[in-house]
Amino acid sequence: MRVDRRGWLIGAAAVLVGGHAGAGGDELPRVALATLGGTLPEADVAMVKTALLAFYEVEVVVLPRADLPKQAYYPKRKRYRAEKLLDFLTERAPKSAHRVLGITAVDISTSKPPHEDWGVIGLANMGNTACVISSFRCKRLARNAEHARQRFGKVAVHELGHTFGLPHCPTKDCLMQDAKGSVLTSDREYDLCTRCRQMLIRRGYGLSGGTPPWPEPKPK
Ligand SMILES: [Zn+2]
Ligand SMILES: [Zn+2]
Repeated sequence: MRVDRRGWLIGAAAVLVGGHAGAGGDELPRVALATLGGTLPEADVAMVKTALLAFYEVEVVVLPRADLPKQAYYPKRKRYRAEKLLDFLTERAPKSAHRVLGITAVDISTSKPPHEDWGVIGLANMGNTACVISSFRCKRLARNAEHARQRFGKVAVHELGHTFGLPHCPTKDCLMQDAKGSVLTSDREYDLCTRCRQMLIRRGYGLSGGTPPWPEPKPK
């Protein structure tokens, strides 16, 4: 049986102790929401929390707002480097948090060869503690603020899914589909597919069975 440095049971063994990653079997994995910068509306924070709780059997704690770290700023494009935000979040994550999700309204970017600085909606590394998402690109061609906010919630479920070990999914319209840099694909997404759900459970996480806080796309 493997236990990671925060004491969570990982791998197949966790399934045997009750279907989620909580050590001891009764504590839910805690996800800390870290709002970076002052411009993200409270309604966006609330959407992310609601979305995560609708999918994952986790406890969500909202941390006090923090300033964006200066070392992550990329003056050439006037935006923030996502991988530096991940380093910042990993260092600052409360010890009690299993995962930390950084949420921000500023544009974020990372290197995507051949592009030195490529704007992204979110960034996560498989199985790592931290992920980060930005509402900046969620507003693109959005009908209204609520539509953009629902997309933001979907991105949160997607990126946190990566930290829980879910790779990109080939199933059409699954929330773990590769967005290929565009937020528009999320408009056809509603839920995690059966394959992703099964994979999560195999990895020791629980599904909350809630209703997603966005409308089901109309069949074409
Ligand atoms: Zn992804
Ligand atoms: Zn899937």
